[in-house]
Amino acid sequence: MAKLKILEFPDARLRTKATPVETVDDALRALISDMFETMYAAPGIGLAATQVDVHKRLLITDVTPDKSEPHVLINPEILEKDGVTVSDEGCLSVPGYYEEVERAEHIRVRFLDRHGETQEMEAEGLLAVCIQHEMDHLEGKLFVDYQSEAKRQRIRKKLQKERRHQSAAVAM
Ligand code: ZN
Repeated sequence: MAKLKILEFPDARLRTKATPVETVDDALRALISDMFETMYAAPGIGLAATQVDVHKRLLITDVTPDKSEPHVLINPEILEKDGVTVSDEGCLSVPGYYEEVERAEHIRVRFLDRHGETQEMEAEGLLAVCIQHEMDHLEGKLFVDYQSEAKRQRIRKKLQKERRHQSAAVAM
């Protein structure tokens, strides 16, 4: 297993629309293992392949504090959604920012599991929010897109400034 590099806003690669996974094979399962290692280390509760620069329709989640409910969703499709929930969301690709986003409270989703079998799952609350957030990544969409352009600009500037400071700290 290996930890992968997570792309950070405003990296243009985060805007790529992912294409469907055609074969669920050992290479994909190796990527899934690496994604779990990366997500747990971050730490985070969800990760889309887009965030590690692989533009395939694949996402993982585990919203539990003890890593007990890992989910792998390949080629996910929302079949039904209802209700409205507003929660503070953060994103591993936009470190340090938490903003309110409105999502469906309950979803039913169809996907392939890591063995390539079709599955359906009901999700609500945090898990439903997380799946919708990760599915946005597969469309090249970020949670900051729900904020105003002025706010997005401020976040972009601040993150760029922090990255400059970070690199200055290690540069000789
Ligand atoms: Zn995210």
